[in-house]
Amino acid sequence: MKFNKSIEAFVAAKQRIPGGVNSPVRAFKSVNADPVFIERAKGARVWDIDGNEYLDFVASWGPMILGHAHEEIVKTVQEAAERGTSYGAPTLVETQMAELITSMVPSIEKVRMVNSGTEATMSALRLARGFTGRDLVVKFAGCYHGHADSFLIKAGSGAITLGLPDSPGVTKASAKDTLTAEYNNLESVEELFKKHSNEIAAVILEPVTGNMGVVLPEPGFLEGLREITREHGAMLIFDEVITGFRLAPGGAQQHFGIEPDLTTFGKIIGGGLPVGAYGGRNEIMDKLAPDGPVYQAGTLSGNPLAMAAGCVMLNTLKNNPSIYEEMERKAAKLEAGIKANLQATGVSGVVNRLGSMMTLFFTDLPEVKSFADAMTSDTNKYASYFKKSLESGIYLAPSQFESLFVSAAHTDEDIDTIIAANKAALQSL
Ligand code: PMP
Repeated sequence: MKFNKSIEAFVAAKQRIPGGVNSPVRAFKSVNADPVFIERAKGARVWDIDGNEYLDFVASWGPMILGHAHEEIVKTVQEAAERGTSYGAPTLVETQMAELITSMVPSIEKVRMVNSGTEATMSALRLARGFTGRDLVVKFAGCYHGHADSFLIKAGSGAITLGLPDSPGVTKASAKDTLTAEYNNLESVEELFKKHSNEIAAVILEPVTGNMGVVLPEPGFLEGLREITREHGAMLIFDEVITGFRLAPGGAQQHFGIEPDLTTFGKIIGGGLPVGAYGGRNEIMDKLAPDGPVYQAGTLSGNPLAMAAGCVMLNTLKNNPSIYEEMERKAAKLEAGIKANLQATGVSGVVNRLGSMMTLFFTDLPEVKSFADAMTSDTNKYASYFKKSLESGIYLAPSQFESLFVSAAHTDEDIDTIIAANKAALQSL
C-alpha cells in the first residue's frame, strides 16, 4: 500500500491546522503513524486519497451504524438542503426527532437537541446542577464525556492516549468540583457520597465504556449507582453518546433495565451530521430556558439537515429490530474469530464485547474489568497490530483505548476478511 498523498496532505495540514487535525485522535499519534486522509466512503468501506480501500471498523467513531452514505439518508439530506440549511427557527422535523427519541428511550420525556456529544454532557451537567442546587459531579477514571472543563479530569479516549489526563487551561476551580471514582467499584462512589453527601449534583458515566476500550459494567454496578444516587438525591446521568441506539433501540439503559435521570446522546442521532442531545423526565427538563431558569442555547441546534438525517437513522433502527440481531450475530462471530486467533498465535489478549462494540486489549491479564486493568495493555503492540491491519486494508481505531464497531453494513464476508487479517496481524507481532 502507498500512502504518498496522505503523507503530503498531512504536511500541508500541519502548516495551518494545529497538529494537522481538527480532533486529536485522528492524528494517529498514539500508534506512531501518519494519518490517512479519507476521500469517500460507502457502506462498510472507506477510500483514502491514495486510492487505498479499507474495511471500516471505526464508523466515524460510532455513528455510521447503518454504514456510510446510506442511500435514504443521503437523499433526505439532499432534499432538506434544497429547502435551506439553517433557519434558527422551529421546524416540524425537530418535534419528529423528539417524538422518536422519547418513543425509543422510556426514561426520556423531553429532549433538547445540541450540536455535539460535548455540548450534550456539558449541558446535562449544568441542568443537574441547576435542578439539585449542588455543585459537585462524580465521574469515573477512564470515562470520556467530551472536552468540557468539568470532564477533562482523568478522562479517557484521546486524553489517555496522548497522556493529557488533566489539560492545561482547565482551572483549579472547575477541577475541584469534579470528583473521580473507579469504574466497577461501588465503594469508591460510596466513599465520595460519605464525604460530600449533600453536595453531589450528579454521577455521570458511560454505562458500557468505549473510551478506555470496551469495559462492561459488573453485575450490580449500575443498579448500585442507581440506588446510591437516589438515596442521596443526586442525578444519575448515562452518557450514551456511544451506546445510545447501538446496544439496543433504547440504548444501554434498555439493555440493562436501569433508568437514569438524564441521558446524553451524540453521533448516531445525526446519521453522521454534527449533533447531540440530552433528555430526561419532564420535572428536570422543564427547568431549562425558556420555561425554566437553567440557560442553554444554540444557533444551529436542531439543524434541519441533521434532524432529517437523524430521523431516517432512528426510524430505520426503530422499525428493524433484525438490525440489532444481525449486528450481534456478526460481532459474536468476530469475537469468536479473534479469540481463536489469539489461541492459535499464542498472543495474550482479552476481547471485551457487548453487542456491536468490542475491544481487543493486548494485556497479560485474564480479564479487563477496570481502568487499571485496561491500562496494563501494551500500546506498542497495539501500534504494530494497528499498522499491520491498516496495510492489509482494515481500518481500526488508531488507539488501544477505543472500541471497534460492527455496523449493519458489514457482511459475513467482511467479518471473515477481518478475522483473517487479524490472524495475520497477530502472527506478525
Ligand atoms: N461522550 C462519549 C461517551 C463519547 O464517546 C464522546 C466522543 N467520543 C463524547 C461524549 C463527546 O462527543 P463529541 O466528540 O461529539 O463532542
